[in-house]
Amino acid sequence: MEFIPAKTIISGYSDNPNWFGINYNMNIYIGCCHQCIYCDSRSNCYQIIDFDRVRIKYNCLEIIKKELQSKRKKGVVGTGAMSDPYNPFEKKYMLTRAALKLVDDNRFGISIATKSDLIRRDIDILKRIQSHSPVLVKMTITTFDDDLCKKIERNVSTTSQRFEALKELSDNGIYVGILLMPILPFINDNEENIRSIIKKAHECGAKFVFSYGLGVTLRQNQREYYFQQLRKIFPEQNLDRKYIETYGDIYENSSPRAEYLWKIFKNECEKYNILYNMNDIIRDYKKNYEKTQISWF
Ligand code: SF4
Repeated sequence: MEFIPAKTIISGYSDNPNWFGINYNMNIYIGCCHQCIYCDSRSNCYQIIDFDRVRIKYNCLEIIKKELQSKRKKGVVGTGAMSDPYNPFEKKYMLTRAALKLVDDNRFGISIATKSDLIRRDIDILKRIQSHSPVLVKMTITTFDDDLCKKIERNVSTTSQRFEALKELSDNGIYVGILLMPILPFINDNEENIRSIIKKAHECGAKFVFSYGLGVTLRQNQREYYFQQLRKIFPEQNLDRKYIETYGDIYENSSPRAEYLWKIFKNECEKYNILYNMNDIIRDYKKNYEKTQISWF
């Protein structure tokens, strides 16, 4: 494992955050070895060299402690945007776990995005944080089919393992939901996939399912990597050519069936009383803290 220097880890305060109400961002690890074929974080614009190699920010816990103590405003700290905080190295190094303890000690809230069931290990701390501040766990699930999952998200828990983790979190009273994104045109953009995920989300106690654009964003080298993987995984289907013919080199590649699928998505969420609108989700997971901690808002 390589340790690299870092000057800062927790970002500045965002006053009116529209992405899940996250006020601060925190990334302990750099790079991610989960190998999702569509990962946006490998794009050139983020300048992460050798993205699949995980590195740890040197002295990260000391920095996080100092930064949390010096923040003038409390808020929700988000993690999991550029790198999964529950990569395989987390089992040994337990840095995400230690960072959660600091979040708890300093009475901040937490929002975690992950595809790993290792998060089950930290239910005890999440419960402690939730006793004083908002907690939101977003489990990313893109396909209901475990076989497809193993092809497009190779090195991380399968969909069924993620659903089990989701259920355990929910059974423990943690506020959980699903990030149903990206939807990959010609691969997982079908009605059955969407219906199955939302039904299972309901059975597992998910409070929300969030999706956006019902497509995948592609840019620079990320597109090249994605096409390379499509050729490897689906050699007979000429999917890379299909993408080029359909989208050229545009950034947002929405499913050709996006409008139809959105109706299904919306109807299914409403049928099971699952939230899908961002503002509703933010309001709901923060609602119990409004009166006690006016500074959250
Ligand atoms: S888990 Fe997230 S950060 Fe890691 S490879 Fe997959 S999409 Fe990228």
